[in-house]
Amino acid sequence: MNVQQQIRTASAEGTGHFDVVIAGAGISGVGAAYHLTKQCAGTSFVVLETQKSFGGTWLTHRYPGIRSDSDLHTFGYRFKPWTSAPIATAAEILSYMGEVIEENALGPHIRYQHTISSARWSSEENLWTIEAIRTDTGEAVRFTANFFWMCQGYYRHSEGYTPEWKATESFKGRIVHPQQWPDDLDYKDKKVVVIGSGATAATLIPAIARDSAHVTMLQRSPTYFRTGRNAIEIAETLRALQVDETWIHEITRRKILFDQDAFTRKTFEEPEAAKKELLSAVEAYLGPDYDIATHFTPKYRPWRQRIAFIPDGDLFQGIKAGKASVVTDEIERFTETGILLKSGNTLEADIIITATGFNLSANGDIDFSIDGKPLDFSQTVTYRGMMFTGVPNLVWVFGYFRASWTLRVDLVADFVCRLLNHMKEIGARKVTPALRPEDHNMSLLPWIDPENFNPGYMMRGMHLLPKRGDKPEWQHNQDYWAEKDEFPAIDLGDHAFVYE
Ligand SMILES: Cc1cc2nc3c(=O)[nH]c(=O)nc-3n(C[C@H](O)[C@H](O)[C@H](O)COP(=O)(O)OP(=O)(O)OC[C@H]3O[C@@H](n4cnc5c(N)ncnc54)[C@H](O)[C@@H]3O)c2cc1C
Repeated sequence: MNVQQQIRTASAEGTGHFDVVIAGAGISGVGAAYHLTKQCAGTSFVVLETQKSFGGTWLTHRYPGIRSDSDLHTFGYRFKPWTSAPIATAAEILSYMGEVIEENALGPHIRYQHTISSARWSSEENLWTIEAIRTDTGEAVRFTANFFWMCQGYYRHSEGYTPEWKATESFKGRIVHPQQWPDDLDYKDKKVVVIGSGATAATLIPAIARDSAHVTMLQRSPTYFRTGRNAIEIAETLRALQVDETWIHEITRRKILFDQDAFTRKTFEEPEAAKKELLSAVEAYLGPDYDIATHFTPKYRPWRQRIAFIPDGDLFQGIKAGKASVVTDEIERFTETGILLKSGNTLEADIIITATGFNLSANGDIDFSIDGKPLDFSQTVTYRGMMFTGVPNLVWVFGYFRASWTLRVDLVADFVCRLLNHMKEIGARKVTPALRPEDHNMSLLPWIDPENFNPGYMMRGMHLLPKRGDKPEWQHNQDYWAEKDEFPAIDLGDHAFVYE
C-alpha cells in the first residue's frame, strides 16, 4: 500500500495521518505538544494516551499523600510559572498540567483511551504506522506519522514491581501495591507494615500514620533523605517584593539549580561531607539517641539513588511521635498475621503495603519493527539518551534522576523542534542516527553506569535498554548542567545524523 492509500485508509477509520505522533500525555507528552505548537507552527500532531486523562505518573498514583519529591519550579515547565509551595501534591500537579493544556488549546490534539500496541517503520514510504487499541471500545485504530515522539515514561503503569516472598498467600490481611491503591482500603486503627524506604514509602507513611494504629517501615537497607521547609526563601522574598511571577519562576529555578549543582558536585568530590550534611539533618529531628547508623545511613555514596525530599521532616516527626517506626531487616516469609524476619523477630500487620518500586518499560510495551524486522532497542546505541542508531525519525524523552525530569523535557523538545525545522529546510524526510567512522572502535556499555546511579528498577531492566558509548554524544549522562549548554549547540550537520 502506498502513502496516499495508507492515508486514505487511516482517514476512513477516523484516525489519520499526522506529521508527529506523541505517545503519552504525562508531563513529557504535554510538554512535547506545547513546544510543537510554539516552535513548529503548522505541524500536525496527535497525542495518544492509554488512560482516561492526562498526567501520567500523577494520575496513576493515588495513594494517600502522593506528592512530588523535587521542587515544582524545576519539575514544572520553564514556560509556565509555578506559584505555590515547591513540593506539590499530585492534585496540584494535575491542575497545573490542566492549565497548560487549556491555555494552549492542546486538548483537541489528545486522544485518550488509546493504547499504542505497535509501531512499524517503512523506509519505502518514510512513515511510521502506529496501531492503537481503544480501551473503551476494544477497536484497533491506525495512524501514520513522519515522526514518533515517545513520551511514555520509563515504567509500566498497569502494575508495580513486587518481589517474590515466601508464603504471601498465608497472610490473612490485605497486601497492597501503592501503584494500584484500592479506593476502599481502610487503614484506620490498623497495624500497617510498609515494605520499602524509597520516596513512595517516605510520602505514604506520614500520610497514613495519624489514622492508623501504627506504621512500620520495613527496609532491607536505608535510603538518604533531604529535609527542610517546604518553601524557597528567594521565591518568598521576591513575592513579598511583588515581583512578576514569570521572573520569580526563572530566578527561583536558577537558584535551585545552582544549589543542586553545588550539592551534586559535593557528593562526588567530598562524599563524606555530603553524607554528614544529610545525616545531621535527620538527627536534628530524631535526636542523638536514635539509631541513625542502622536505619538512615546507606552503604552507598549519596546520589547513587534518588534522594527524596521530606518537607518539614514529616516522616521523622511521625517516628518521633511514636506513630511510625523503622525496622531494618530482611523478610524470611509472610505469616498469617504478618511477617517473620530473618533476625527471628516478627512484625504483626493488618495491612502490608509493598512500596517496592516499578517495572521498567523501555518502550511503552509497543512492538516496534523497522522494514518488517522486529526492533530490539537493546541492540542499538543511544544518541544522547534520546535517539537510537538505526531507528529513523524517533525520539524518546528520558529525563533526569538527580535533577527534575522536566528540565530535560524542555531541552529535548527544543532539540526535536530544531531538528524537524532543519529537515523541512533541507527537504529531508528521514533522519537516522548512525555511528561515525571515528565511533566504530568505541566501547559499548550499559545505558547507565551502575557506579553512577543504580536504583533497583534500572538494575533489573538494564539489559533491555539501549547501549551507551564512551563519548558525550552517545550517552545520557544525567548531567543537566552540561546538557543545557550542549543541546542547543548540537550540530545538526554532524555525520551522526544521516538524512535522506
Ligand atoms: C510516585 C512518583 C513520584 C515521582 N516524583 C518525581 C519528582 O518529584 N521529580 C521528578 O523529577 N521525577 C519524579 N518521578 C519520576 C516521574 O515519573 C517523572 O518525573 C515524570 O512524571 C515522568 O513523566 P513522563 O510524562 O515522561 O512519563 P509518565 O508520567 O510515566 O507518563 C507516561 C504516559 O504515557 C502513557 N503511555 C505509556 N505507554 C503507552 C502506550 N503504549 N500507549 C499510549 N500511552 C502510553 C502512560 O499511560 C502515561 O500517561 C516520580 C515518579 C513516581 C512514580
